This record gives sequence, structure tokens and C-alpha cells, in this order.
Amino acid sequence: MAGEEPYPRKILQYMEGFLVSKALFSACELGVFERLQGSQWSASDLALSLGCSEDGMERLLNTCVSLELLTARTDPHGAVVYSNTEMSSMFLLKSSPRSLCQSIEYSSRTIYLCWHYLSDAVREGRNQYEKAFGVDSRDLFEAMYRSDEEMVKFMHLMNSVWNICGRDVITAFDLSPFRCICDLGGCSGALAKQCVSAFPQSTVTIFDLPKVVRTSQQHFVCNQDERICFCEGDFFKDELPQADLYILARILHDWTDQRSVELLTKIYQSCRPGGAVLLVEALLYEDNSVCVCVCVCVCRWSCAAGGGSSV
Ligand code: SAM
Repeated sequence: MAGEEPYPRKILQYMEGFLVSKALFSACELGVFERLQGSQWSASDLALSLGCSEDGMERLLNTCVSLELLTARTDPHGAVVYSNTEMSSMFLLKSSPRSLCQSIEYSSRTIYLCWHYLSDAVREGRNQYEKAFGVDSRDLFEAMYRSDEEMVKFMHLMNSVWNICGRDVITAFDLSPFRCICDLGGCSGALAKQCVSAFPQSTVTIFDLPKVVRTSQQHFVCNQDERICFCEGDFFKDELPQADLYILARILHDWTDQRSVELLTKIYQSCRPGGAVLLVEALLYEDNSVCVCVCVCVCRWSCAAGGGSSV
């Protein structure tokens, strides 16, 4: 309104956004949601049970209430007791099939530390794994997979979102005409599982780096469905399996335009006639605002490799 001082609401939100993330990370790390599952606790009892200070716990619990992660009510004895919300019970418990706990832990222990060096990353034009973790960061995936344990954690991060929205992504288009599918950089196999469940006639080859494939077989696709198979390789150096449909989910954003074109060209050359690529990425809208949902698009080639144009 005319005459009113402008209020920097958005800037204040952005400035303090990390406080919200840290409150969520801490509540998960301290085991708040696990302990509250199925019962109500006062701040002092919870503090005692989790080995925390009473004052600190009360502040954290009230923050979680304001974030709608917990509810608080006064019991018949006049004590304030806290319990999980429906959303917390669904997504913030380790045992939940839709758990985000491992993603939250990865965000807290890895991504948050790297983002601390964002200004350096922009200045230098490279990732900051060396500063954050003291590892050679020239190859992004070597840095991320700096130990087997770190690789499994990353794979859980990749896995968890598809347990929540993988079905929607994979059924955004009717993929039933594509019987032979290759998920390039298919990681934990979460999308492959959604794919064979939604399109039972299809088979999916998970193509990934050798140690990722072995870990996927060991930890993620254990009860092997015969419609899912694996192929170890480097998608820049090795021959790609022939397929009717290639899935590239959260792959292209890791590479320069030049490398992305290189990969897409290789796919085009391996693709069977009438085949297609399914791209799954989070994108910006044309006005640069963020598209929070995953953008899925399918590009179908009209002719065999070497001949036609893309559609
Ligand atoms: N597509 C999966 C998803 O959406 O959950 C994983 C995406 S993750 C960001 C990138 C994947 O590409 C990882 O599984 C990684 O191991 C794989 N990758 C990276 N470089 C690769 C290469 N040169 N050849 C094959 N796979 C590669």
C-alpha cells in the first residue's frame, strides 16, 4: 500500500531458511520422532530419555510444533505433552516404507557441509568435496563414493524419493509399448522396480558403475525380480545395452552440455527403431522460478539410429 515501508519478508525467510533445516536435522538425529511414535511425552521426560538438556529439548520441541512436525497439548495434570503429526509418522520414522530419514541424514552430514562452501564453488566453478571432506574432488562420483559406506548412504538418498513419488513419475506417460528398458545410472534400482510394477510386460536393465551395480544387487534389489537385470559400465566409455527406452533420471544435471550431448548421441546410436528417452529432472520454469516437482518428458525418435530426427 502507498506510504507503507517495504517489508523484506522473502529475504528474511531466505536468510533464516537454514534454521528450519537444522531444526529438522537435529530432531531426527536426536531420535525425537522415533521416541514419540505411538505415545505422548513431556519435554522433561523426553530430555531425560534422550540424554538432552530439558531447556534445549523444550525449545526444539516447540520449534517442531511451529513447523507442524509435532503437536502439543496440555494433559489432565496440566503438563504439556508432545506427539508426532501424521506427516512425521509417515515420513520421519526409520521403519516407515516412505521414510525420509536417510535422506535427511545425508542432507545434514554431507550436502549441508558442501553448501557451506557455495561461494567458493561459484568462484572456482567446481564442487567442494575437497574442502568439506579432504578428498580428491576432480571426479564427482569418486568423491561421493569415497568409501563403500558413503556410497550406500548416497544410494539410500537416491532410493528414498522414488519410494514416495516413483510411481507418479514412471506412470506420467504410458510406457507400456516399450518392452526393453535401460535405466542409465539406475543406481539403487528404485525406478526400475516401479517400472516393472507399473508395466509388468517390461524388462529393465540397470546400467551403472561396477561398484554401484554390485552394491545395488547386495543391498537394494536383493529378491531379484527376473524382469530386472544389471549391466556394469561407464556410460561415456562403454557400449550401452540396446533398448527401446532409455531412462535418464537425475543424470544430465551432473554433466556439462557437451558431455550431455555426448551421452544423448550415444543413446541415439544404441536405441532400437521407434525408441525413446525418458528424462526425469527438476527444472526451472521459463521465468526462472523453480519447478518443485520432478519434470518428466519422453522424447521418441521417429526412425532408427543414423536416420531420423527426434520428435
Ligand atoms: N538415476 C538414479 C536416480 O534418479 O535415483 C540415480 C541418479 S544419481 C544423481 C547419478 C547416477 O549415475 C549414480 O547412480 C551414478 O553412480 C551414476 N553414474 C555416474 N557416472 C556414471 C558413468 N560414467 N557411467 C555410469 N553410471 C554413472
